[in-house]
Amino acid sequence: GNLRGFAKVTRDITQRKQTQERRELEMLRDAVRARDEFLSVASHELKTPLTPLQLKLTALLRTVENNPSATLPVERIARDLEVARRQVRKLSDLIEDLLDVSRISVGQLRLDRAPMDLASLARDVVVRYAPQSAQVGCSVTLEAPTPVEGNWDRARVDQVITNLLTNALKYGAGKPVHVRVRKEAGLAVLSVRDEGIGISQEDQPRVFERFVRAVSERNYGGLGLGLFITQQIVEALHGTVQVRSTPGEGSTFTVMLPPDMDAETQAPPKPDAP
Ligand code: ADP
Repeated sequence: GNLRGFAKVTRDITQRKQTQERRELEMLRDAVRARDEFLSVASHELKTPLTPLQLKLTALLRTVENNPSATLPVERIARDLEVARRQVRKLSDLIEDLLDVSRISVGQLRLDRAPMDLASLARDVVVRYAPQSAQVGCSVTLEAPTPVEGNWDRARVDQVITNLLTNALKYGAGKPVHVRVRKEAGLAVLSVRDEGIGISQEDQPRVFERFVRAVSERNYGGLGLGLFITQQIVEALHGTVQVRSTPGEGSTFTVMLPPDMDAETQAPPKPDAP
């Protein structure tokens, strides 16, 4: 009897060990698959801007070489340079996102807090993206009637607004986009609403994860880093970011930030004296 019991316990342990090993092997396989897919997407995304960049630079070089001293077609050269500049910007943005992700993973996303107005920053970003909005035929409205002040990091909050706005332009199907800044229950609230393709219920919680792109949207390009970085910045500022979306009707991303005001004066703390 003892021997039979012993054999059963041994069998149980062996089975549990095998299940555990199988699970670990599956996790390892998933990680390898995710890494391979990331490498393939990242190489593709980094390579895409290089083709137009190379073509434009070669064309410019030819134009200059063939016109040693005669008049140059300045307008065409300016247009080509603009295309080249845009592609360089795309590459540098992608690389900057990758660097941010590695900063985040080693806990080195530093914040440089200083008093600022969220309403005027949102206006700056909307104005900066006016040419791109026009290009995709999208009208962007801004509702930010009063200053919304707090002690945040201007460059990082700029990045948050930019990520949400560029996503709204990218996935907004050319329909109107609405940016709103207001104060609610002592919090600064920024929302970016589009009327585009939307995100399925199942994908909504996952879009803030690193390298996640909603499955059906692969053809839009992108590394799936923008929302991850956005959430990390917002959380570093002790805020929250949420999405509400209906497929085919659009999405609203809402960021809430505590103002981190000076407790005594209820005003943003003054920057340190030099
Ligand atoms: P990227 O846009 O580079 O893929 P993001 O991290 O910014 O990466 O977004 C992750 C995914 O979330 C996108 O791939 C897309 O599927 C989805 N998404 C983000 N913003 C929107 C939006 N406004 N409308 C629909 N889908 C969106």
